[in-house]
Amino acid sequence: MLENFKNLQINDAILKALNDMGFEEPTPIQKEAIPVAMAGQDMIGQAQTGTGKTAAFGIPALEKIDPDNHEVQVLVLSPTRELAIQVAEEINKMAQYMSIQALPIYGGQDIQRQFRSLKKKPQIIVATPGRLMDHMNRKSIQFDQVKMVVLDEADEMLNMGFIDDINTILAAVPEERQVLLFSATMPKAIQNLAETYLKEPQLIRMKPTQVTMDLIEQYYIEVQDRQKFDLLCRLLDMQDPDLAIIFGRTKRRVDEITEGLKKRGYMAEGIHGDLSQPKRDSVIRQFREGTIDILVATDVAARGLDISGVTHVYNYDLPQDPESYVHRVGRTGRAGRTGKATTFVIPREIEHLHAIERLMKRKIERRKAPSLSEVLEGQQRIAVQKLIAAVESGDRLETYRASAEELLTDMDSVALVSAAIKLLTKEPDMTPVKITEEAPLRVRRRRSGRDSRREGGRRNYRSHRRHSDSRDSREGQGHRRDDRRRSDDRRRPRRDNRPRNEHSYEDNQNTSSFKPYFKA
Ligand code: ADP
Ligand code: MG
Repeated sequence: MLENFKNLQINDAILKALNDMGFEEPTPIQKEAIPVAMAGQDMIGQAQTGTGKTAAFGIPALEKIDPDNHEVQVLVLSPTRELAIQVAEEINKMAQYMSIQALPIYGGQDIQRQFRSLKKKPQIIVATPGRLMDHMNRKSIQFDQVKMVVLDEADEMLNMGFIDDINTILAAVPEERQVLLFSATMPKAIQNLAETYLKEPQLIRMKPTQVTMDLIEQYYIEVQDRQKFDLLCRLLDMQDPDLAIIFGRTKRRVDEITEGLKKRGYMAEGIHGDLSQPKRDSVIRQFREGTIDILVATDVAARGLDISGVTHVYNYDLPQDPESYVHRVGRTGRAGRTGKATTFVIPREIEHLHAIERLMKRKIERRKAPSLSEVLEGQQRIAVQKLIAAVESGDRLETYRASAEELLTDMDSVALVSAAIKLLTKEPDMTPVKITEEAPLRVRRRRSGRDSRREGGRRNYRSHRRHSDSRDSREGQGHRRDDRRRSDDRRRPRRDNRPRNEHSYEDNQNTSSFKPYFKA
């Protein structure tokens, strides 16, 4: 047991914790990254979500820390509050037999409370960049003993416009620190960041195709935008997922799909960056606990969240960026379990689907939309299964026995069972739902054009404009405002009063590299 972890020369306290956590052997990225990081080298790790990156840097971080020194020794930068909390929790689990603590620090949380937590002298801070800057400026976190900086989900942090903060933070930590950079994608901006701050980094790259995709049954259905919603409901009825995530391309989409599903009686909630933090937290909690079984999300809101037991992923819209497809679909089929991913493709976007296939080096199988009678059949099958399960479990059937016997004396048994199945069969709910049509993806990436139009026809982009463009409309705006209230908003007031919910894109494209993913 844990032989493979032992081979990585990990100390007994950590091994014991890993054992408690149920880790048996290192994941591929852990196998490769841990020795490199423990040897003190800078490194870049590229792997999709769910591949165990937290332990890949968490273990070397714990090995590197001097537990007798109660100054901050490791900084982990994280794009969102949820991830900061998740990462700090995972590190604390690994550190449970050591006297080392990790503390999450993020925008939106009462700063006084953070001051109090900091008095407990955590050696690891897992922080969103904006709030960490606040603490740096207030001198409530000292950087002079920092030996290691981890940039987790670096592409996401750049997409959210944290580049200036990251630069400032990295410039403020001691020269001889080690930097570990993790990113799902490697756009030019990440390469630049690495060139500036990493010393002869080792590149460790796990191709998406090598990861979990084999356990996921993937297919697509060609459908017009206005037919997507009914199709979605049919599939949900037929496939009866334990837990499903539905991805929409915009915040408006997520809101409308969620409302529509609720109208039709599904237990669904949505998450995207415009929702308040407590709301997002509570939705994610309900989904984890199974109080709701359908989560509707934008790419960014769902990125990195570790939720087990997701059986189905539905791509209501294709993602803007082919790599996001891999992340979305990777939400299912985790921990060796199988999953199903269904993607809706409008005819005009079929080229985008091919781009995804090329990226994955794998075909996505085409299916027909199920007909209404197929749906009814599927529903009936589910009803029959429920009936059989009830008979087999025998649970409290005694109480119904007398009525059953009485019914059977003067009625046909087949007619009776048919009626029971009919009553148990959920017939499609056709409550009218209106979903606003979404413009199809164009062949070229055209984020800047869109944004400039919304911002009053400004069409003159210089490279630094792209950053500010992107940060106004994207996910994390909520955190950002919290994060940056003091330091940023004064410096850079919002230029417009346009409502930021509606159909602002919440994608995770990298706006600083304008290499088109899709050929014209
Ligand atoms: P990533 O950061 O790459 O998205 P995480 O670090 O969040 O991935 O890990 C995903 C899930 O896999 C977590 O629940 C984590 O506890 C679990 N995990 C990580 N490493 C292992 C391992 N070696 N064995 C079993 N489970 C693991
Ligand atoms: Mg992670």
